[in-house]
Amino acid sequence: MNKYVPNMYKKNINDIDYEKLKNLNIKCLMFDLDNTLLKLNKTIPKKSFCSLIKRLKKDFSIFVVSNNGSNKRVSIAAARLGVNYVRFSMKPFSRGFKIIKNKYDFAKSEMCIIGDQLMTDILGGNKFGIYTVLVDPLENDDLSITGINRFFERRKLKQLSKKGLLRRGEYYG
Ligand SMILES: [Mg+2]
Repeated sequence: MNKYVPNMYKKNINDIDYEKLKNLNIKCLMFDLDNTLLKLNKTIPKKSFCSLIKRLKKDFSIFVVSNNGSNKRVSIAAARLGVNYVRFSMKPFSRGFKIIKNKYDFAKSEMCIIGDQLMTDILGGNKFGIYTVLVDPLENDDLSITGINRFFERRKLKQLSKKGLLRRGEYYG
């Protein structure tokens, strides 16, 4: 399987089929922070996301796994959601995933990463061997620190689209 293709692709985290994830015996949901849970200019996730996370806690262990190194930004958002977090997770490398796997003793088959970037969240999750869910970024802000990733991502998306593997806006899973 192509390492850039997610298992599921939805517009945003409200649209994800969490029943399906539950039935797949997934127990650990790891959410990317920037542009997945939170717009870059915000410090607190929007209300519907906060209440979603609250509901999901009944069925899953929830974590924020961010490449962001800012302790303040990540910890404020995680505290608002009432979840544990790993910052500076180094996706697409496995640092953050490993920390959670080892600390909470999950099997890889029980873990899922949900994020907006092919080059970090999806590639990282697929390389580590866990379930991957892509969402559209909350905003397309190429001035952000992810700008260089976005450049490579657009190129990668073109390739995947040509092969019929993934197209922006064509949701599945
Ligand atoms: Mg992100």
